[in-house]
Formats: sequence, structure tokens, C-alpha cells
Amino acid sequence: MITNRIKNLHESATLKMAKLARDLKASGRDIISLSLGEPDFDTPQIIKEAAKKALDEGNTKYTAVAGHLALREAICHKLKRQNGLEYSPNQIVVCNGAKQAISNACMSLLNPGDEILIPAPYWVSYKPIAQLAEAIITEVPTTVEENYLASAKLLEANISEKTRAIIYSSPCNPTGSVYERHQLAEIAEMLEKYPNVFVLSDEIYEHINYLNKHESIAQFPKIKDRVVLINGFSKAYSMTGWRMGYTATNLELAQAIEKFQGQVTSGICNFNQIAGITALEKTDAEVKSMVEAFRKRKEVIMEGLREIPGIKLNNPQGAFYAFPDISSYFGKSYEGKKIETSSDMAMYILEVAEVGCVGGDDFAADKCIRFSFAASEEQIREAMKRVKAALEKLQ
Ligand code: PMP
Ligand code: GLU
Repeated sequence: MITNRIKNLHESATLKMAKLARDLKASGRDIISLSLGEPDFDTPQIIKEAAKKALDEGNTKYTAVAGHLALREAICHKLKRQNGLEYSPNQIVVCNGAKQAISNACMSLLNPGDEILIPAPYWVSYKPIAQLAEAIITEVPTTVEENYLASAKLLEANISEKTRAIIYSSPCNPTGSVYERHQLAEIAEMLEKYPNVFVLSDEIYEHINYLNKHESIAQFPKIKDRVVLINGFSKAYSMTGWRMGYTATNLELAQAIEKFQGQVTSGICNFNQIAGITALEKTDAEVKSMVEAFRKRKEVIMEGLREIPGIKLNNPQGAFYAFPDISSYFGKSYEGKKIETSSDMAMYILEVAEVGCVGGDDFAADKCIRFSFAASEEQIREAMKRVKAALEKLQ
């Protein structure tokens, strides 16, 4: 009954682990869920007020497929003000979250058999989305010693005749690594030699950056037209449930994305978009205070993790994930539960520590597990205590 396309589609590990944690909690278990990358803050009040007003003013009908012109203008203004990038509103397509932005870009850019390079570890949805576009995936493994960053040299060594795109997030989910300007400059320079290769630059964690300086590869004029800048409202403004994101790219590709979206979902929710303008223009102070909270939480989780013997840590510079290597526990067991993979470890920690996390295998890093620290300091402290106690039981 079900198509091979969907049968072969891998379920999102982040959403699966979040559901398991939610179900266990609903059954009465005292679960601390650090599985989902979702800020625990409420959406700033000023954004909610803007949505209510927009609704009362009758913004309830279909909008242009690419989004309200006023929102696209506000996005262009944001890209200029915060990133020094020039785009015109007809280069922007607003969609249902950065996830749909990636899907729109892959469907519009990748022919069946085209190759996409994905530096690993990578976010769980990149590969399934590219596979839906029938692209060939080339994973480009990076190491903790290189801070999980792919150099221009490493990427170039993996480029072939068929390579059409590279996708990465910076700041990165799951590693927290951040590409600095000189690293992006080298990649941009290298790509001048490969005029068919596009960059899908996922900048959804732009503001959650502990280096305090976000850099986009779109800053380099020679390849700007071959960049699809992906961003959204979920993380910086704590608007995960509003489902708003966008792409900014060259006009031809923007029009293709708009055509695709027009057949699949039309434009996004109308009154959300009006509130999106407020988010972009009037919440700098709120964003700053949420980022400061994440910075403190990062210290709390790293402190907790450092107390646990046998794990290796990198130092995340952005996003809100810790991604420890727990492979020294592989082969150990407790009460018949043997840990052989990162998913086994994530299930063990959920069952025994009552803490939700996600195994690294779907991030192409089977030695690691991912904890989101978008939770209160108290929850993070308690969670780390429980994880430590659970790991001590493994023999
Ligand atoms: N990219 C990355 C790297 C993510 O972690 C996420 C998860 N929020 C997304 C894209 C999608 O975000 P959304 O669809 O909520 O905008
Ligand atoms: N991106 C977040 C995460 O990695 C939210 C869930 C999802 O869309 O994957 O946890």
C-alpha cells in the first residue's frame, strides 16, 4: 500500500526520541527531555500581540506563495542590517520552517543522481530530504580534533563531476561548531573552480553563537549567487510551533522554489507572517537575553558532563547541543541491557536515567549522543546527575 519512497524514508530520530520522552512523561514517569532542539522560552509577548492584532485585522486569507511582500522586505532588511547582505524581496521565499526551506531547495536544485556533500556529523533531516530528491549522498567525515569543521581541502577532495551541492549548518546541529570568516573564505575561493556547485547554508542557529559573530558564506560576492541561505524563526525567537522559515537565493532558483511551493503547500499561515515582521524588527533585546541564558546553560551542562568518567567532549561554540563521545561504554551492560550503539545508549539513558537524548547514529556519529541544553539550569543539573548515576551502573 505504501510507496517505496515513504517506506525507504528514515524517520526523524529527533522527533522520534522527543515523542518517546513525551509518551513516557504522559504515563507518569519523571522524564527530563533533553531530546528536542526547542527553546523552552515562550515566544516573546510582543510577537504574540502582533499575531493577535493581525488576526483581528482580518489577515486570514491566502497570501502570495512567497509570502507577504512586507515580510520579505523585512527579511531583506534583516539580511542587510545583521549580515551585510543585499537581497531583493523577489529573491526570498517564506516557507513552513527551515525544514521546508531545505526541502524546497533540494527539490528545486537537485536532479536525480546529482550528488550532495554533507560534512558529518550533520543534522538528521539533511540526508532523508536529499534522498527524497533522489540525490546521491556523499558524507564527508570530520573529526573532533578539527572541531568537526570541513576544510576547503577536505570538501574539494570529495567533489566529483556529479557534485551539485554542499549542505551544512553553522552554528552546527549537533556539534555546535561554527565556521569562522577565514574558513568560509577558503571554501568560497575553492568553489570558484566548481561553477556547478551550490552551497545550502543553514543558518538557523545564527543568533545562538557564543563567539558573538555570525558569518555567512553568502558574504563572498563571487559565489553569493550559488548560495541558498536558509534561516528561520524557530530558534532565535523561540517560535518553533509557528513554522516559519525562508530561503534567500538567486532569482531563478527563488522562482523555481516558489513554483514548487505553490504546488505543494501554497504560502504559509497569513497572520504569522505579520508577527514575523515584529520578530525581525523589535526583539533584539529578547533574543539577546535568551542567548545569554543559553550561554549559562552551556556552562552548566559542560560542567555536568565533565564529571562523568569515560566521555570525550568538544566545546560547542553555538546552537544548544552537547555532543559527547560515549563510545568507551560500548560493550558494557546493566540488568541485561547491553550498549552496543549510540541509539542503545540513548534508550538506556531514557529508561534508566529518565533523561531524553538522541543517539548520534542518525547524525552520522555513532560514538556520540546529543543532549539539548534548551532547558532550565535546574533541569540540566538534575539530568546530568542522573546520567552520571546511570552510566556508573554499566559494567
Ligand atoms: N536546520 C537545523 C540545523 C535544525 O536544527 C532545525 C531544527 N529546528 C531545522 C533546520 C528546522 O527548523 P524549523 O523547521 O523549525 O525552522
Ligand atoms: N531541529 C530540532 C532538533 O534537531 C527540532 C526537531 C527536528 O526538526 O529535528 O532537535
